[in-house]
Amino acid sequence: MERLIQYFETIPSAHRALILAGGITLFWVIESALPLFQFEYRKVRHAGLNFFFTLTTIVVNFLFAVLLVKTCDWVVANHIGIIQWISLPFWAEVIIGLLLLDLVGAYFIHWLQHHVKIMWRFHIIHHSDTYLDTTSANRHHPGESLFRAMFTSLAALIAGTPIGIVMLYQSLSVVLSQFNHANIHLPRWADQVLGWLIVTPNMHHVHHHYVLPHTNSNYGNIFPIWDRLFGTYMELAPKDLKYGLDTHPDSREHSHIGTMLKIPFQKHRPPVGTGSVQPQEELKES
Ligand SMILES: [Zn+2]
Repeated sequence: MERLIQYFETIPSAHRALILAGGITLFWVIESALPLFQFEYRKVRHAGLNFFFTLTTIVVNFLFAVLLVKTCDWVVANHIGIIQWISLPFWAEVIIGLLLLDLVGAYFIHWLQHHVKIMWRFHIIHHSDTYLDTTSANRHHPGESLFRAMFTSLAALIAGTPIGIVMLYQSLSVVLSQFNHANIHLPRWADQVLGWLIVTPNMHHVHHHYVLPHTNSNYGNIFPIWDRLFGTYMELAPKDLKYGLDTHPDSREHSHIGTMLKIPFQKHRPPVGTGSVQPQEELKES
């Protein structure tokens, strides 16, 4: 375990890029072979749009890397944060560190993005995707990436995690987020077994259903425990899923980079509900 954390402490940028590209490639192949829905879309064009927003996320994270590294070094040097205050075997500290990073740096910020109007405006871009697949994982407006990067440092401060644990968390987060957005048909038994340990595609797809209350459920990123603990866990059968948002049903608003970047600066639109225009044609389960 110590060697693993040491590796992540100084993980080369090339290895991080390989994890990102490797994950997308793997899930792209699986969702092409075993798709949950038969989307009638131009997969490469759709991916191109989402890759642009993945790239802006990488740039924002790069700009915030100094803050993150300084925060981690400071908490370790000054014994600040939860895992610095408790005395447990190293492996237990790593697990608690990962859980706390997931709670503050993913679940809590995601919950806030759904409940604070100004934050929601930026998060709309992620939810406007009507063809959810593995490339949707990092489709974040640069403004949202900014909120998330700040909360990653805040999470490291509260958790008291050294940079090695944060880098391990981020690498796991990249791959698991690509997995739970993927358009993969997972057998029910596999979903139920995996669902106790990690957020599965079935669980996260419910979060992308186009109307409330489902849009405001299943905020989890890696661990499903937070949704179960805080009462935000919901289920919906894949046959009832419709991706997108009731407030943004017009695909012209979210299929071009320029218009998408402007979405947060438009007037707030209240939820419409199931009476809205359907965001897309019926999804065909394969
Ligand atoms: Zn969301």
